Amino acid sequence: MSRIVYVNGDYLPEEEAKVSVFDRGFLFADGVYEVTSVLGGKLIDFDGHFKRLQRSLGELDMPAPAALDDLLEIHRALVTRNEIVDGLIYLQITRGAPADRDFAFPPEGTEPTVVLFTQSKPGLGESPQAKQGIKVISIEDIRWGRRDIKTVQLLYPSMGKMMAKKAGADDAWMVEDGLVTEGTSNNAYIVKDGKIITRNLGTEILHGITRAAVLRFAREAQMVVEERPFTIEEAKAADEAFFTSASAFVMPVVEIDGVSLGDGVPGVVASRLREIYLEESRKAAI
Ligand code: PMP
Repeated sequence: MSRIVYVNGDYLPEEEAKVSVFDRGFLFADGVYEVTSVLGGKLIDFDGHFKRLQRSLGELDMPAPAALDDLLEIHRALVTRNEIVDGLIYLQITRGAPADRDFAFPPEGTEPTVVLFTQSKPGLGESPQAKQGIKVISIEDIRWGRRDIKTVQLLYPSMGKMMAKKAGADDAWMVEDGLVTEGTSNNAYIVKDGKIITRNLGTEILHGITRAAVLRFAREAQMVVEERPFTIEEAKAADEAFFTSASAFVMPVVEIDGVSLGDGVPGVVASRLREIYLEESRKAAI
């Protein structure tokens, strides 16, 4: 069965799905995206992703597509048509495809490009990596200054993942002015003396939808949360570390730059938060 993708109002087999070479997403990375996970055929935190998408569009003065109001329906249609039980839905909106390449934004009335596709990931919630924990390296954060906007400019995060792979690690945490900003595709946390520490929101990091939910659940479970920057040295001396993202949920980190954390196995706080997050998210899924 060919995967069915959504392109500008049509549901098409992936081989037939096309966008223009003049699309601004292709030429200028002038696009925003969201990734929503699916567990048991239901969408996790759709509302959070939808609100962040609207914010990203607004911050870039990008016109909202007509399909905006139908996005929930489109997500659900793709889940059904592709028989997704566990997996991801990728959504991208760009400033459209004007008649020619031009740095200036296209004329008013240029239709935004809207693309959605599914990725089937059976057993997404039962990641073997989560049982073992993952290794990260630190790299310099040289991205642009508006990381709070979820744009498709992902070259540096992509390079960061390759640097990690080359170093025998699983991912990279980015550091700016000595302080950890976030992971290449996730938000970063450490745990010290029972306290959960994660970078405060600002333009320096993406406002993770999973982050918001996990911090809410942590506080509800009477855990202490401190939202502030931390150094990579502090991270290496932490009792535990973990990251969060819509596709990995809560992922324990057991090694940073070759330094083993705690007992070198996933910590109790990270493991508990993963359990709570998955349980509550499955309950609230739509
Ligand atoms: N930071 C960055 C840079 C990311 O790319 C992501 C995932 N898209 C996150 C954080 C986590 O955000 P979310 O929990 O909404 O997936």
